[in-house]
Amino acid sequence: MTKEGHGLSRRDLLCAGSAAATGLLWAGLPELGARVDAQGGRKPLAIDVHAHLFPERYLDLVQGFGKTDTGTQRDRKAGIAPGEMPARFALMDAARVDMQILSVSPQVPHFEHKGNAVTAAKMANDMLADAAHRWPTRFRFFAALPMPHVDEALKEMERAFGLGAVGVGLSTVVLDRSIADASFIPVYEEMNRRATVLFLHPAGNAIFSKLIADYHLTWMIGAPAEDSVAALHLIQQGIPTKFPNLKIINSHLGGALPVLLKRLDSITTWEYPPMPERPSLALRRMYYDTVDYGDVPALHASIAAFGLDKMVLGSDFPYETGELYTLSANYIRQAGLQPDDTAAILGGNAEKMLRLS
Ligand SMILES: [Zn+2]
Repeated sequence: MTKEGHGLSRRDLLCAGSAAATGLLWAGLPELGARVDAQGGRKPLAIDVHAHLFPERYLDLVQGFGKTDTGTQRDRKAGIAPGEMPARFALMDAARVDMQILSVSPQVPHFEHKGNAVTAAKMANDMLADAAHRWPTRFRFFAALPMPHVDEALKEMERAFGLGAVGVGLSTVVLDRSIADASFIPVYEEMNRRATVLFLHPAGNAIFSKLIADYHLTWMIGAPAEDSVAALHLIQQGIPTKFPNLKIINSHLGGALPVLLKRLDSITTWEYPPMPERPSLALRRMYYDTVDYGDVPALHASIAAFGLDKMVLGSDFPYETGELYTLSANYIRQAGLQPDDTAAILGGNAEKMLRLS
């Protein structure tokens, strides 16, 4: 199933020089196309929007810049070392997943040191783009941005889209700043202008709570708490209202949000009256990936809360690998939904959102 691209190595690309030059190189990226079934009809692809790429070289770089948690991403066979891609493709085939939209989250290139942030972002995007170019039927990618440096982030966004990015990947916080910090507005303006996708992923910061971090709950409960808080910060700042073309994906079925809509709408009236709109309305315009370890009732709760057209397949590869990876797609197939609805969640919604067809 693998397919080599145009015979360009990553080194070729890294040496290719300016963004304009690399943009030209990527102009030949083949169109995705769609699978054709036995009757010649078009079948929607199964697209996993929550899948990670962790090349060792990139992890070494960000560790050198001060990241202390790269051990979480190492030795998970999620890079580009020999044998890693064939194993990934075999897993995707077993799960009947056609394509992954790659990101380097949570090891995003967010550093206070501007030069480090830019260097890491460039390496991340070059590596992500290289994978998408070498295996064009298997991968697209979300651009990594050198936050919190807005001018550099805008430049790198342009370069990354020239390399073929189909959206942007950010953490639910940028270092210690809210994702909705007023200084980031130009980044939202530009994403809105491009009518692109923003994939939000937890930073793994235990939401700055000792009660989470010190009790080994950073990913169990901290991550869905991060998902929930980030979405609400965006709504409080009016970002979904001001930037209606921006398509926001929240991870993990939206964390706690599916069961909180009425509470949010009610309590905001006295706790935060300036809320620009009812939270439930803004949340129903966002998208949600289906990463939740095969939890069918949770999937139904999220569909009921946000709408079937807002659900997009996610796996969290390589954290969900082996049987957990196949379960991440199969639990949707086995959730008792109508065939058209299953197909929409597996790929139809993402294909439309990402404008892949
Ligand atoms: Zn993830």
